[in-house]
Amino acid sequence: MKTKIHLLFGGKSAEHKVSLQTAKAVMNAVDQTKYEVQPIYIDATGTWHKGGLLEGKVDDAKLLEFKQAEQSVSPLTLTEKENEVVFPLLHGPNGEDGTVQGLLELLNLPYVGNGVLASSAGMDKIAMKAIFAQAGLAQVGYVGFIRKEWEDNQQKVISDIEEKLPYPCFVKPANLGSSVGINKASDRNSLVEAIKEALQYDRRIIVEEGVTAREIEIGVIGNEEPECSVVGEIVPKTEFYDYQSKYEDGDTALIIPADVSDNTYQKIQEMAVKAYKALDCSGLARMDFFLTENNEILINEVNTMPGFTPVSMFPLLWANSGLDYPALINKLVELALERHEEKT
Ligand code: ADP
Ligand code: MG
Ligand code: MG
Repeated sequence: MKTKIHLLFGGKSAEHKVSLQTAKAVMNAVDQTKYEVQPIYIDATGTWHKGGLLEGKVDDAKLLEFKQAEQSVSPLTLTEKENEVVFPLLHGPNGEDGTVQGLLELLNLPYVGNGVLASSAGMDKIAMKAIFAQAGLAQVGYVGFIRKEWEDNQQKVISDIEEKLPYPCFVKPANLGSSVGINKASDRNSLVEAIKEALQYDRRIIVEEGVTAREIEIGVIGNEEPECSVVGEIVPKTEFYDYQSKYEDGDTALIIPADVSDNTYQKIQEMAVKAYKALDCSGLARMDFFLTENNEILINEVNTMPGFTPVSMFPLLWANSGLDYPALINKLVELALERHEEKT
């Protein structure tokens, strides 16, 4: 009997379209002899739809459309409770942040990727950095605060930031991805503007010391014994790796493997595994680093559901490490089933 993969895609997030593109690619790559795919589309309002087809070419997210088969379905009625696994191909809040993972835990269903803790801690950059600090991982200086603190006393928030961080700094909503709402601030005025913008996306804000550095990323897969891919480098054409350069321009260069010394590669692997364990990751994660001019390695962030189209960094890192796209999907499904077994 084939194992059924419930492929969750779409979602109520800024990365909705990207998720459609990924879902299409995964459907095409799944090993049909072993698995049967059940597509489950989550529309932009958060409603779940079972069945249906994605129409359009994989490489053009803008042209992909979902043709609904059923009006809507309750997430609670998805499961037939045997021979099945869920693959949540969702990025950002309401998908990558532990909410869907919590639902799947309650349904007692095996699922691909990270559990509740890693997903939620990885989504919130303030929580993530506190855990990294506790694990002794080197990272940039940062200040976190909430909307109420800003509304009550802007002067105090600004002086806390200026006391701790030099300009330029990066202002980010704590709970997003894809560079949405992120701005670089080079003085007090731009800091205030950046904070106001970030507050439109989140009530939790993080401000970080800006570094001039290469951006190096590494893929990690596994449960109790995580393994690392080769490293890759992103070279954005814009001032930083913003939303547009991630999804619209397509002229950001991905260099795989990145040109780093063996020693640096070694250290990045060690830090990535340490971070993976500190957050209790499982399945997969992409760990992103800054490599400064004096070869200092700083961890920037974890992505618990990294971009997953066949031309995204994470699958390319693994393809360069001997695991092509279909093999990677197989491996992730196996890890999901293994983790479920271990739990029960
Ligand atoms: P996201 O989760 O949205 O990808 P990141 O923290 O990775 O958020 O920030 C997006 C991009 O902004 C990074 O890839 C990098 O180009 C730039 N950036 C973020 N933080 C810093 C920083 N502290 N110093 C320099 N550049 C940064
Ligand atoms: Mg991110
Ligand atoms: Mg990032």
